[in-house]
Amino acid sequence: MEKAAVQKQLIAMLGKDKVLCEALDLMYYSYDSSFLTKMEPADPWAVVMPRSTEEVQKVMKFAFDNNIDVIPRGAGTGETGGCVALNGGIVLDLSTWDEIVEIDARNMQVIVRPGVIHARLNQELAKHNLFFPPDPGSSQMCTVGGMVANNASGLRAVKYGCTEQYILGLEVVLPNGEIIMTGGMKARCIKNVSGLNLTKLMVGSEGVLGVITQIRLRCWPRPKARGIAMAVFDNLDDAPATVLDVYQAGVLPSGIEILDSSAIQAVNQFKPQINLPDAEAILLFEVDGNPPSVDYEGSLIKEVAGRRARAVEWATEEKRMAELWEGRSVTATAAARVRKDGTRVFAGEDISVPLAKVADTLRAIRALGEKYGIKVVNYGHIGDGNVHTAPVINPENPEEVEKVLQLVNDIHLLAIELEGTTTGEHGVGAVRRKYAELEHGPALHYMKEIKKVFDPGNLMNPGKLI
Ligand SMILES: Cc1cc2nc3c(=O)[nH]c(=O)nc-3n(C[C@H](O)[C@H](O)[C@H](O)COP(=O)(O)OP(=O)(O)OC[C@H]3O[C@@H](n4cnc5c(N)ncnc54)[C@H](O)[C@@H]3O)c2cc1C
Repeated sequence: MEKAAVQKQLIAMLGKDKVLCEALDLMYYSYDSSFLTKMEPADPWAVVMPRSTEEVQKVMKFAFDNNIDVIPRGAGTGETGGCVALNGGIVLDLSTWDEIVEIDARNMQVIVRPGVIHARLNQELAKHNLFFPPDPGSSQMCTVGGMVANNASGLRAVKYGCTEQYILGLEVVLPNGEIIMTGGMKARCIKNVSGLNLTKLMVGSEGVLGVITQIRLRCWPRPKARGIAMAVFDNLDDAPATVLDVYQAGVLPSGIEILDSSAIQAVNQFKPQINLPDAEAILLFEVDGNPPSVDYEGSLIKEVAGRRARAVEWATEEKRMAELWEGRSVTATAAARVRKDGTRVFAGEDISVPLAKVADTLRAIRALGEKYGIKVVNYGHIGDGNVHTAPVINPENPEEVEKVLQLVNDIHLLAIELEGTTTGEHGVGAVRRKYAELEHGPALHYMKEIKKVFDPGNLMNPGKLI
C-alpha cells in the first residue's frame, strides 16, 4: 500500500486529531537519542496517537492485513534507534496515553497505561508511601511503556534491580491484533509461578513482539532515610576492589557510582566550583533504608573504604549529600562539553562487564581513545559493572565520525571479550543488533523462532533487537 493511502486510511479509522502526516511532524519522529538516528534519521509514513486498546488493535489489524511495519514509541529517549521507523511504516506514539489506571496500595501495585512518565508515577506513588524503584537518568522524560520495552534501570539497580523485577502483568496487542494478558487474566497477586513466563519475555522485547498497552507494576515501601559516601582514590584498581570489600563487609548500597580521572576533569572543567578532588577515581555510595541501618551501613562503608581510599566522607544531611552528589549528576552534561567544537556521542555508551574486570575495562577504553585520538569520558554504575563511556567528537567532521564508529565497535567487542555485554542498560535496538550472534551464539536462533511465533510477517519494529 502507498504511503498516501496508508495516511488516508488511518485518518478514516482514528480521526485527524490522532494521526500526523505533515512532513515537519514526521521529521520529529525520525530520530531518538541515538547517534545512529542523528546521523541517519528516518521518517515514518504516518504517526498515530492511540488512547485505547481498541484503537491500537484497529491499527495493528490494518497494518497486519496490509503488510505495513509498526513501530511503537514512548518518549523517544532511547539510545539505540529502537523507536525509529528505519524503512517507513506507522509509528505508534503511546506517550499521550498516560493514565494511572489504579494505585492498588493494599496490594502493593499500580496499573498504568504505557505513556505515564516515570517521575510522575513516583510522585503519585509517594502519596501512598510507595515507590517504583528503577531510576533511569531520563526519569523526567521516559515513559513506563518504554522502560518495560527496554527493561530500563538506573544507578539503584545495585540494590533494586531492573524494571523486569517489578512487572507483574501486561496487556499486549499482538501484530495480528489479538489482545493477551500476561501474568494471569484477572491476577492481582504479587507472587505467581503459573505458566510460561510471557511477562518476562515481553519485558526487554523492545517492541518487536507486540504493543504494551497496560502495565501492572509491583511497588515497594519508600525508604525513610538516605546517606552518601564519597571515597577518593589515587590508584584506579583500588576503586573496584573497594566495591568488593564493601559487599564482603555485608553492605548492599542502593547505588555505587564511579567517576574516573577523565570524568573528574570533565566535571571540574564544566563547573569549577564543584571542585572534585584530583584523583584517579572517585566512588559514590548511596545507602537507603531505615535511619539506624543507614547510619550503621554508612559508618561501615567509611571504615572499609578508608582502607584503600585517600579520603572518605559520609553525609546524611540533605545539603551535604547534594554537594557530594553534584559532580555525578552533572557528569553526562560535563562530558558533552569537554570540547568547544564537539559533542558527546551516544554509541557504545553502556557496556556491562564483570565486577572484577571494571578497572581493566576502563584502562582498555582509555587506550582505545588514545589509539583513535578521541577523548572518552568514563563513569557509571560500578556497583553492577555497568560502565558509561562518552566519546566526544565534532559530528560535522566525517573523519572523526568514521573514527568514533571504529572506536565504539572496539568498545562493544571489548565488552564481549571481557565476559560482559554490549548493553547493560539501554538495549540493542538497531545499533547493537550486529553483535547478537557473537553474544548469544545458537540461542539467537531460538530468539528468532520466538519472534516468528508472535510476528510471522516481521512487521513489528523490524530491524531491531534480533
Ligand atoms: C538523558 C538520558 C538518560 C538516560 N538514562 C538512562 C538510564 O539511566 N537507564 C536506562 O535504562 N536508560 C536510560 N536512558 C535511555 C532511555 O531513557 C530508556 O531506554 C527508556 O526506557 C526509553 O523510554 P522511552 O519512553 O523514551 O522509549 P522510546 O525511546 O520511545 O522507545 C524505546 C523502545 O521501546 C519500544 N517501546 C516503547 N513503548 C512501547 C510500548 N508501549 N510497547 C512496546 N514497545 C514499546 C520502542 O519500540 C523502542 O524499541 C537515558 C536516555 C537519556 C536521553
